[in-house]
Amino acid sequence: MTNHENVNMRNPAATAANEILRVDHVSRGFNKSQGELLVLDDVNLQLKEGEIVGLLGRSGSGKSTLLRIIAGLISPTAGTVTYRGQSLEGPAEGVAMVFQTFALFPWLTVLQNVEAGLEALGVNAHERRIRALAAIDLIGLDGFENAYPRELSGGMRQRVGFARALVVEPTLLLMDEPFSALDVLTAETLRTDLLDLWNEQRLKIKAVLIVTHNIEEAVFMCDRILLLSSNPGFVIGEIQVPFPHPRNRLDPAFRRLVDDIYARMTARATTGDTRKGLELGTRLPSVSTNLMAGLIETLAAAPYNGLADLPEIARTLHLEVDDLFPVVEMLQYLGFADVQKGDIQLTQAGKKFADYGTQERKLMFAEHLLRSVPLAARVRQVLNERPGHRAPRVRFEEELNDFLLDNAAAETLDVVINWGRYAEIFSYDDQAETFSLDDVEA
Ligand code: ADP
Ligand code: MG
Repeated sequence: MTNHENVNMRNPAATAANEILRVDHVSRGFNKSQGELLVLDDVNLQLKEGEIVGLLGRSGSGKSTLLRIIAGLISPTAGTVTYRGQSLEGPAEGVAMVFQTFALFPWLTVLQNVEAGLEALGVNAHERRIRALAAIDLIGLDGFENAYPRELSGGMRQRVGFARALVVEPTLLLMDEPFSALDVLTAETLRTDLLDLWNEQRLKIKAVLIVTHNIEEAVFMCDRILLLSSNPGFVIGEIQVPFPHPRNRLDPAFRRLVDDIYARMTARATTGDTRKGLELGTRLPSVSTNLMAGLIETLAAAPYNGLADLPEIARTLHLEVDDLFPVVEMLQYLGFADVQKGDIQLTQAGKKFADYGTQERKLMFAEHLLRSVPLAARVRQVLNERPGHRAPRVRFEEELNDFLLDNAAAETLDVVINWGRYAEIFSYDDQAETFSLDDVEA
């Protein structure tokens, strides 16, 4: 602790004595063929000693990018990161990161994997062994020292990931969705174990920054939650979590806070964008027509009868934010639902859709698709105009490449193929990669 105060006294750049990290006006873009893709735009945040802070945002909002900047793995296009009063240039000693995927060396044992992190720091072999064994013990991996990653379950592998981060005795621990690749029970066990270590002060870590798209996880673990917007990402709000540990997910106050955050995220994620409508070059989420129809049916049926609380419907359908929001958003764009203050309500069209049979549903979906999704309308228009009524996939992929990164263009086209086939507004031959109006009624 004294160590860290010394750093601050020597360096006037640090504003508060207990500040571990500050991010000032950080922006980051990525180059693509049609110019810069701005992923982070003027992100500001601070971490103080003794805090677990959550960074909550949807998939693609730039969470991993921000964490990689803080870890010194990539640099920001603009802005600065200050770690313990020093401006950060590259990876800093004292900052460790746990990744979503376990990123272990498959040819090394658990013990060797954990020691590997210390080798880079120039720690001698004897001390490496002692410290690695201690970290393995701490995180509950004793007995597995000589196992290879392939012999371990996902949960045990992620424990190795944690041991590798803890063994360097970091001051700041960064975690990038560390539990999201694990099954529900394993994730909860690991979360609780980590919180116990933290609360019993058995870690030398002074602050934790955890990135997640899971609202409940953020409320379960964090002292403070920062909400990150999407496209581009910046901090749109901050939420204090006042509950003592261990927290109870069923506590009404816990549930109210989850609902409140849900409402704030949907307000931001949906209303603003959907009113503008989609454009030809808008990236489309990979949402199946089954999922859309399923949500409409669930909403139409009792007990909801057309109106539901979004967090509740997410729980009912066992969907996480990342899975639910895109479906909700598409229902809004297509005119089947409205969202307000965390509630989703079926429109008249949505209610009709729920009542209709298969063929009527297809017709209705086709009509809404052509009206609301410019890319679907474009495919149909090109097919109408071309003699022979066919067009190769590459025709549209090239057009989309003007707007989207290569992968996103292909993915977006696949989404429209899925919807267009269901709506029978065109046919698509996977083998020939060709659109046509074969078997489509005029
Ligand atoms: P999150 O972790 O919130 O899901 P990411 O930080 O991984 O978001 O990505 C945010 C956006 O930045 C995405 O649109 C992604 O495609 C883009 N992106 C991330 N890394 C790169 C890169 N190296 N090159 C180009 N684009 C990138
Ligand atoms: Mg990520």
